[in-house]
Amino acid sequence: MCQSCHVRAVSTYRTAERNCRDTGEGAAGLTTHAPHASHTVTLPDSLDEAVAALTAMPAAVPVAGGTDLMAAVNAGLLRPAALVGLGRISEIRGWQYLDGHALLGAGLTLARMGRPDFAALIPGLAAAARAAGPPQVRNAGTLGGNIVTSAPTGDTLPVLAALEATVIIAGPGGGRREIPVSHLLAGREMLSPGELVGFVRVPLLHAPQAFLKATGRTGPGRATASVALVLDPARRGVRCAVGAVAAMPLRPLEAEQWVASLIDWDGERGLVPEALTAFGDYVAAACIPDPAPPEDGSEPATLPPAALHLRRTVAALARRALGRALS
Ligand SMILES: Cc1cc2nc3c(=O)[nH]c(=O)nc-3n(C[C@H](O)[C@H](O)[C@H](O)COP(=O)(O)OP(=O)(O)OC[C@H]3O[C@@H](n4cnc5c(N)ncnc54)[C@H](O)[C@@H]3O)c2cc1C
Repeated sequence: MCQSCHVRAVSTYRTAERNCRDTGEGAAGLTTHAPHASHTVTLPDSLDEAVAALTAMPAAVPVAGGTDLMAAVNAGLLRPAALVGLGRISEIRGWQYLDGHALLGAGLTLARMGRPDFAALIPGLAAAARAAGPPQVRNAGTLGGNIVTSAPTGDTLPVLAALEATVIIAGPGGGRREIPVSHLLAGREMLSPGELVGFVRVPLLHAPQAFLKATGRTGPGRATASVALVLDPARRGVRCAVGAVAAMPLRPLEAEQWVASLIDWDGERGLVPEALTAFGDYVAAACIPDPAPPEDGSEPATLPPAALHLRRTVAALARRALGRALS
């Protein structure tokens, strides 16, 4: 513990002003190695107080679990002048049911999402949360942090894309706006200064879901490819998203429609192995396509071996994910 730290109550929220030059201790008790890091840490109790703190300090950066943010600080990529910690905001740490949807707080930890009661609700998201990082990262890392970091390897992201989830963004003056997660991930819409991700709205589909991830190593690791697949029996749909192979999750829409048309939705819902394999190949070819043929009519280029390997991995993950969802 940094001996020079002190905590001061300020108006409606608590502010901890920390001078951590000696030890480099950062937010949320995480140790940073950034030399001469000196910053103000504000710890609001509500989403609107957090927005107000960010609006009052435009240079401040929000921090939830700190697993991504502190890694960036430690790597010297970020020197935040001030931090607004989201860890005390109880309204965003749980979830509730709302009109056939689940409203998930941005502060839900990956560990909490991996528990059986959450898995009964949204099995695909629970599987992704369980697959993300080692236990200490899952204990601190949050859904909101995973979304805002938007890393290609973010494990919850393909599931949210397949579920067609939306995010509810809190802004100044108590403002709220709701946008598709995919818009945020694609950069079609951005968080404005002072805005925070408050909640994630996910439809409750009451049907099997699967998330599978390849890491290229044993034990926890970042995805080299991942596949999320959800069944939507009410709309007779199969929705699939492939993660880690591009900057954002990819939806193979034609493959989804093709395979949904093969399923006997009122019957057994099974598919022959050849159809599962064809679906895997369809998904993989859509996400990792062959190079475009040269305009001069010469011999078309072939995919490099690494891309071919990745395509085979995606095909296997998609085939298995569909097989699991239909079994
Ligand atoms: C060793 C290690 C292994 C990891 N392995 C995986 C893995 O396998 N899979 C995976 O998906 N991730 C992995 N991660 C990444 C990380 O744990 C996740 O992305 C995590 O979900 C981030 O959440 P956080 O609360 O820690 O985010 P933070 O680090 O607190 O924040 C991340 C970013 O989001 C912003 N932010 C946070 N919350 C909000 C909000 N509510 N509104 C607006 N902005 C916000 C912050 O300002 C920051 O820019 C790993 C990280 C580490 C260190």
